[in-house]
Amino acid sequence: ESNLLKDIIAHAKEYGFVYPSSEIYDGLQAVYDYGPYGVELKNNLKRLWWESMTRLNDNIVGVDAAIFMHPTTWKASGHVDSFNDPMVDNKDSKKRYRADVLIEDKAAQYEQAGEEERARELLAAMGKLLDAADFSALRDLMINEGITCPMSGTANWTEIRQFNLMFSTQVGSVAEDASTIYLRPETAQGIFVNFLNVQKTARMKVPFGIAQIGKAFRNEIVARQFIFRMREFEQMEMQYFVRPGTEMEWYRHWAAIRVKWHLALGIPEEKIRRHDHDKLAHYANAALDIEYQFPFGFKEVEGIHSRTDFDLKAHQDFSKKKQQYFDPEVNQNYIPYVVETSIGADRLFLMTLCNAYTEEQSGDKSRVYLKFHPAIAPVKAAILPLTKKDGLPEKGKAIFEQLKYDFNIIYEEAASIGKRYARQDLIGTPFCIAVDHQTLEDDTVTIRHRDSTEQERVAIADLHGRLSEACSF
Ligand code: ATP
Repeated sequence: ESNLLKDIIAHAKEYGFVYPSSEIYDGLQAVYDYGPYGVELKNNLKRLWWESMTRLNDNIVGVDAAIFMHPTTWKASGHVDSFNDPMVDNKDSKKRYRADVLIEDKAAQYEQAGEEERARELLAAMGKLLDAADFSALRDLMINEGITCPMSGTANWTEIRQFNLMFSTQVGSVAEDASTIYLRPETAQGIFVNFLNVQKTARMKVPFGIAQIGKAFRNEIVARQFIFRMREFEQMEMQYFVRPGTEMEWYRHWAAIRVKWHLALGIPEEKIRRHDHDKLAHYANAALDIEYQFPFGFKEVEGIHSRTDFDLKAHQDFSKKKQQYFDPEVNQNYIPYVVETSIGADRLFLMTLCNAYTEEQSGDKSRVYLKFHPAIAPVKAAILPLTKKDGLPEKGKAIFEQLKYDFNIIYEEAASIGKRYARQDLIGTPFCIAVDHQTLEDDTVTIRHRDSTEQERVAIADLHGRLSEACSF
């Protein structure tokens, strides 16, 4: 792990963003809990996504499907047969890896060394072998590429085996009646099986979309890079149902919209890139990733996939229920094609955290702050009376009462004003509102800006308007 990532993980823990799950028992691999500021940040991200999808588009509606689904769902979707990762162990360190991830890391090294052609060739070779499920050749490829275990440094690899990523459990209390069901590995299927319910009950006309935010579970072989790859995580997906033949147009449309959304969050253009897939999943006719430059390299944050009619058709076959739509404009019945946007809430969280984390050196002073866009900052403003006497706390509390209904703000009177500013910087609060003796005379306060540390005098009556404007997205 890079030093920067280590610093970010430590910061996230120390300042109440992310803790290892059940930490008093030494944690659970690849599972994390969100603390007081983390849950605010995550909720803000989910709300912004939800509103951008459903409120800004009058043809997109939401659902909240259950995590448990009928087991046949996962046969139809292909997850029972092909949601596998190639797993390999190093015989010396006894560490387990995903063969494809090790090979991708090697390709990334080539890319960084300017050998793009070699990187492409390696990925193409891997793609072919994975498609053919030729695991002994995949192992040879690893050995020929000199891929060694980061722990033992040797290339003493076991055979590569298929490993299904779905978690299963039993429903039913009596052992004989119990049947195996899965924890959903993606939220999308909850949308597909409800396609007709939603279309009919909300009277939707193609093209239309269904959005959902919810937990998904994958038994990831290697847990790496903090909340980048988790076993329990949250997805935000939108499936857009379109007339067959128009899918590429919508695919380009949504790719462009989603890139813009990330830029609007304050992610600099040079840290975002599009990666078009050459190798496509069984259900897709076009796919791209929106990648962010994490401290460990450019990695996928969001996927845009043109899924054709693969899913609805499969559910029609397995359920024997027609999954068709009558399109009055062309006077035809058809199974719609689907373009989806799929993003992990936790990965988006990690992107915004990495992007916000700033260490600044000026002279012999250093300062750490989180420069979140005010729309997603966990706390929007802190009300800080300069002293604990002369009626300043009462005045500060009155301002707090005025603003608390519309903004997540905090009131704090302990410690020196400098220490309190520093503390707010560390959790990414964009505005500190200092109440001083002049406030008692003219009802003005000082706003101290997080990023520039500049201060300005503002009338109390203008605070609400100023915060609203700054926190709009
Ligand atoms: P990867 O190749 O990284 O395993 P994927 O291509 O399987 O990801 P998708 O199935 O397309 O991912 O999932 C869509 C989104 O869900 C991803 O872009 C990512 O943001 C998020 N996601 C997927 N798996 C995880 C995970 N284990 N932990 C956190 N987020 C995840």
